[in-house]
Amino acid sequence: MGHPRVDAIAEEARQAVSAARTSAELEQIRVRFLGRQGLLTQLLRALGTLAPEERPLVGAAANETKRELEALLATRLLATQDAERRVRRATERLDLTLPGRRPPWGALHPLTRVHDEIVSIFAGLGFSVAEGPEIETEYHNFEALNIPRDHPARDMQDTFYLSESTLLRTHTSPVQVRTMLAQKPPVRIIVPGRVFRRDIADMSHSPMFHQVEGLAVDRSITMSDLKATLELFAREMFGRQSRIRFRPSFFPFTEPSAEVDVLCFVCQGSGCRLCKQGGWLEILGSGMVHPRVLKNVGYDPEEVTGWAFGMGIERIAMLRYGIDDLRLFFDNDLRFLRQFA
Ligand SMILES: [Zn+2]
Repeated sequence: MGHPRVDAIAEEARQAVSAARTSAELEQIRVRFLGRQGLLTQLLRALGTLAPEERPLVGAAANETKRELEALLATRLLATQDAERRVRRATERLDLTLPGRRPPWGALHPLTRVHDEIVSIFAGLGFSVAEGPEIETEYHNFEALNIPRDHPARDMQDTFYLSESTLLRTHTSPVQVRTMLAQKPPVRIIVPGRVFRRDIADMSHSPMFHQVEGLAVDRSITMSDLKATLELFAREMFGRQSRIRFRPSFFPFTEPSAEVDVLCFVCQGSGCRLCKQGGWLEILGSGMVHPRVLKNVGYDPEEVTGWAFGMGIERIAMLRYGIDDLRLFFDNDLRFLRQFA
């Protein structure tokens, strides 16, 4: 039987199999002789290079050895796997009295918490959440909101321009415009989202931060509706005793405009470190929607009026949790974040 070249390989394989002790070793042997680069495989592949009279002899012998080796490996593999399973069963006993492994609890980011809280307060008042693109046109971000070309906000120094007419939105107010263009009054929306300004990051600035915008437009909406709504918001957000005050201000898209302060909830107005001894904390800007903004979206300012406000989520969270450095929100230092778990 056979052929000297094949017999040598067959003998080597038999010895290797009988010396193998584990299923991993048997697999190595399979690869060495029968794998794609295996000795027998290469021999069969090279049949064409042999003398014509040798080819059938070597071919038959190699195929026979291949079948023999396959059968041998299969038998030995069954036996070793069986033995290995027995060893595993004896050594790896399951201890049902061990306590379970507790998966670590995650926690919501403080900005997410404050965001969710603000949204739920206004959802309870019948406001729905609206969203819009972070890449905006100059028209939606500025022009439609009555921000003239020479306004400092439109300066390249303050705004990330992407092209002549597109930019990263500097506030969530363009979503007011988009919503009013798409639907008829009444409108009651809040708009949470990311906004971008060309600021260097420091304790109170970040080139990206979060705002929540509120907008209500309907027949006979007045400034006292705004005041009542924000009073209710302040009580929900900062506690039952909260009071707010309006200070006259100026924004191009509202008229009249007001900054809103909340009575310092740490010192109740007597002065402390948080309110820098002033007794009040500035929380947002607001006002009656400018008639020109209503006209820009096709509403009739003689028929409907509206108010809007905008606040920074970081600002509210800093006040709420007594955080004095805005950068902490974005460092993702677990020692900071775990305090909110
Ligand atoms: Zn205070």
